[in-house]
Amino acid sequence: MNFLSIKKLFISVICTLLLMNQAMAADKVYRLTLAESWPTNFPVFGDTTKNMAKMAETMSNGRLKITIDSKNKHKAALGIFDMVRSGQYDMGHSASYYWKGKVPETLYFTTMPFGMTTPEQYAWFYFGDGMALMEKLYDKYDMLSFPGGNTGNQMGGWFKKEINSIDDLKGLKMRIPGFAGEVLAKLGAKPTNIPAGELYTALERNTIDALEWVGPSLDLRMGFHKIAPYYYTGWHEPATELQFLFNKKSWAKLPADLQEILRVAMRTAAYDMYIQSYHTSAENWATMASEYPNIKVKTFPQSVIDALKKANQELLAVEAENSPIAKEIQDSQSAYMKKARVWTEISDKAYLSN
Ligand code: CA
Repeated sequence: MNFLSIKKLFISVICTLLLMNQAMAADKVYRLTLAESWPTNFPVFGDTTKNMAKMAETMSNGRLKITIDSKNKHKAALGIFDMVRSGQYDMGHSASYYWKGKVPETLYFTTMPFGMTTPEQYAWFYFGDGMALMEKLYDKYDMLSFPGGNTGNQMGGWFKKEINSIDDLKGLKMRIPGFAGEVLAKLGAKPTNIPAGELYTALERNTIDALEWVGPSLDLRMGFHKIAPYYYTGWHEPATELQFLFNKKSWAKLPADLQEILRVAMRTAAYDMYIQSYHTSAENWATMASEYPNIKVKTFPQSVIDALKKANQELLAVEAENSPIAKEIQDSQSAYMKKARVWTEISDKAYLSN
């Protein structure tokens, strides 16, 4: 065997080894665990995690397998932030504003009272500064956050008594999360956050006087209309975006193609949820309106809306003063909304007033 043949043989062995290595990497199955805030088989929200996991597995030809644990399994509906941060789970599906008690600035990435509508907010996330600001904030906690599905404009909630003035809000015990809870507290109400599974009992036993959950898409099955007949239109959650949370170390372990597959699966599942929410709300509202004619749809009096707006602005100013990143996010959102809203006014709003 001459030198050239040995060299050829050597090169061919190296090439074979490299190809084998590549083939092994391409076959390697990555298993991820996901904890969601919702009970097992919860409609719409739970469909979103299953949809995302199924797309990721199919698109990766079986190389990505995601196990979903519902609240029934991990028992910590509002513990997703901690469980993903610590690495107990690789991923989570929840809502960013649930973490306001730990990191106040997280609440801006779900929805804001009197804030952007869903199309405006998606435009801000993907074409404005939304994604970059969310990454900047969650990076401090070694996590990534991605939009996780939108409910669309939410209803203002179920009330046992009519709200005729701001005096009716004083002492009102209401389940309402996010910044809206703080706005109501400023007007004398007593807001609280209670996980989905405990809401009906809390309302029935008068632990709370009122609650907001989502809208017809998810409210119908909860049965609130049987115990609280006043269904108010929304002001507090015009564009509630859920969240896929990711532990940064778990993300870094994935090859670039699987990261991209996950990005696409999460983004598609998020958009699917927005459309599913719209469809389910339309269907369920038709059912509610025909089967429960005692439901009274109400809009808060203008004096109440004005007081809520004023309290909202005052609280935002305090948050901006206390935190430079809160100010940065608020400035970005208000500048974006100002521009986008002019377009909304002359497009959708004008069309709807035809
Ligand atoms: Ca809600």
